[in-house]
Amino acid sequence: MKNYKPKKRLPAKAYIDGILDGDRVILSRAITIIESNLESDKVLAKEIVQAILPNSGKSIRIGITGVPGVGKSTFIEVFGLHLVKEGHKVAILSIDPSSQRSRGSILGDKTRMEELGNLEEAYIRPSASGDTLGGVSNKTGETMLLCEAAGYDVILIETVGVGQSETAVHGMTDFFLLLMLSGAGDELQGIKKGIMEMADMVVINKADGDNIRMSQMARLQYQNALHIFPQSESGWSPVVTTASALKNIGISNVWDEILKFQELVKENGYFLKNRNQQQIKWMYNNINEELKQLFYGSKNIKSELSVLEKEIVAAKISPVKAAQKILEEFKKSL
Ligand code: GDP
Repeated sequence: MKNYKPKKRLPAKAYIDGILDGDRVILSRAITIIESNLESDKVLAKEIVQAILPNSGKSIRIGITGVPGVGKSTFIEVFGLHLVKEGHKVAILSIDPSSQRSRGSILGDKTRMEELGNLEEAYIRPSASGDTLGGVSNKTGETMLLCEAAGYDVILIETVGVGQSETAVHGMTDFFLLLMLSGAGDELQGIKKGIMEMADMVVINKADGDNIRMSQMARLQYQNALHIFPQSESGWSPVVTTASALKNIGISNVWDEILKFQELVKENGYFLKNRNQQQIKWMYNNINEELKQLFYGSKNIKSELSVLEKEIVAAKISPVKAAQKILEEFKKSL
């Protein structure tokens, strides 16, 4: 995404105080700074995130995925309304991988979550976009921290279940919810096995009208399918239920299961362990990205690599030796 003329910025303290006060306007403006690629904004963003860090983390982070049309917006609307009724403050961050390529976004076109969006207790933000998945993780991850510091105690991170972004979302959430439909095989729904494996809960949505029986059958099928996966380290066995987001059936049950999950993993220590591991992995992901950038971004390396490629094809140098050679040169250049 291109950055045009930089907007006037406030001093860091104004953002920090505003966020901690739960000021939504300031929160939104701070998120814009996090999403910005301007160098000066990056510096400001780091200062803000660093300052609010002690106030972050006090939430349950829920990843929600499913193919377009499965009913994510409808589900999140009723689910969010339920949470607000239960006294929670909910932040909804939507990652739409398609918006990385074009502005025509799957998530953005519709009028989404109208009722929820009007509530003070709910904060909805399409969390775009970056050129790389690492960029998306950083931006969405830091946005989440800001929302937590602003007092949102349930964070829903929504993503379209078609790409790689699920893995990134799974890596930054406590609980992973997969929305599915009955009457279509996994292949038809474009859901990869790896995504099923990440799910703590599968909700067969649209279990209403003529669809109820099919949904119940699908529930049993998925329940059986999930049994073959190895037991998760969390000690939690994934749950499969049916729901109708449209008719508001089975929604409170989803939250009840999440609460059960939370109780279990807080008691057995997995909650904290997983969060700590996620934080550490987040750092390593950044280091890896930067290192790659440093190496492959160098002009000399690029031209040297194209020479080596030719030499490998001509059997003049072995691939292992070629790798060693160029890394040696790189080390010398540091
Ligand atoms: P998303 O693309 O995953 O965000 O899906 P939407 O929430 O936009 O829903 C896609 C379509 O499915 C819309 O026409 C919804 O009204 C409909 N829909 C969503 N949930 C349900 C449900 O529980 N039952 C039925 N019958 N339709 C639903």
